[in-house]
Amino acid sequence: MIPVDEALAAVLGQAAPLRPRAVPLSQALGLRLAEDVATDIDLPPFDRSMVDGYAVRTEDLEGGSRRLRVIEEVIAGHVPTRALGAGEAAFIMTGAPLPGGADAVVMHEKTRREGEVVEILEHEVVAGRNLLAQGREARRGEVVLPAGALLTPVRLGLLAAVGRTQVSAIPRPRVAVVPTGDELVEPDQVPGPGQIRNSNATMIEAMARSAGAEPRTRPAVGDQLESLASALDGALDADVLVITGGVSAGTHDLVPVALERLGVERVFHKVRVKPGKPVWFGIRPGSPELGPAKLVFGLPGNPISGLVGFLLFVRPALDVLAGAPGPVDRAFKARLTCRFAQRGDRPTYHPAVLSPVDGRRPGVAPLDWTGSSDLRAVARADGFVLFPAGEHTYRAGEIVRFLPLG
Ligand code: AMP
Ligand code: MG
Repeated sequence: MIPVDEALAAVLGQAAPLRPRAVPLSQALGLRLAEDVATDIDLPPFDRSMVDGYAVRTEDLEGGSRRLRVIEEVIAGHVPTRALGAGEAAFIMTGAPLPGGADAVVMHEKTRREGEVVEILEHEVVAGRNLLAQGREARRGEVVLPAGALLTPVRLGLLAAVGRTQVSAIPRPRVAVVPTGDELVEPDQVPGPGQIRNSNATMIEAMARSAGAEPRTRPAVGDQLESLASALDGALDADVLVITGGVSAGTHDLVPVALERLGVERVFHKVRVKPGKPVWFGIRPGSPELGPAKLVFGLPGNPISGLVGFLLFVRPALDVLAGAPGPVDRAFKARLTCRFAQRGDRPTYHPAVLSPVDGRRPGVAPLDWTGSSDLRAVARADGFVLFPAGEHTYRAGEIVRFLPLG
């Protein structure tokens, strides 16, 4: 049994960002950019009006004259036919290019139009008003988004604006989920004697997806070494293999044996934590035939044990594979809202509900639960309070660490 921080360090020591590849923008949301992206044009590409109004030469307005002759109308997507001369203006729409000679735009609301003539009602029209000069946002060739940037909707919009339809990005880690256990039936079945429904596959697949990975669940496999080994072998084409069940100390817990037979090297088995103690982690080393190294997690079958194992070890590994700049510690401090007696020989993750901030910290209340199979209780939880090992009665108001689920 090793402590959680040592186990996590061992996992992170084996995890490295996946090799970047070309990804169309439509599939790049949430990925990390793997190249510096420069704009291929000036932004904006021409001097542009920011309002509907009249393009003018401010020098014409300096002498006190307020009446200009309107020579044409310029709408977005079209270009002026000629430059403004002395005493001239052009009616111009938002987004349209300024005529040569113009150095400001007067808002439509601050003018009065009579036939060919526009009267400027605004008193002080300064050069540059209501226009955006070419290249003001970015110059052609300038890097607008650096490698490592997380691709948000706004950044995808920016990439489109600078002419990209695809970018080099770190792909989503592919995660194979393999549930194991002779007792499992699928959710659409009514369990027979001794059977239970396979809830882990649905939950772990969704955890992986919400961590930004691309999960694929395999059919549940029974506790026989041959079928187990062949199912696990088939799943090793993913970047990460997450197995549930079969890693405890029982005689039918054959996952470690099957994995070692497939050349997966054990890094650790059993972590000093509750729930989640039986977690197994290893790597299948890379080779020219097998491709890059694979991370293999054996999570305990009890749903909440597997969930805690996923939060503590699988999710940080997925972050690193996806190119996150450093391991993200999502835990934060919270204030217990009630007294709580805790006793355990291992650090314990106890499901709990957050409440609004009380002083500087959110409040947190441990939930009643029956233990590591209690999905019903944990479905109400926002996450887990971490209680250190030992016996202690916590007072309401004490500060504890909280690991959020989301
Ligand atoms: P194991 O880790 O295989 O010893 O399983 C521990 C407990 O988790 C047992 O009660 C199993 O029935 C239960 N369990 C195992 N796999 C699943 C699963 N896929 N969904 C729900 N419960 C499971
Ligand atoms: Mg089992």
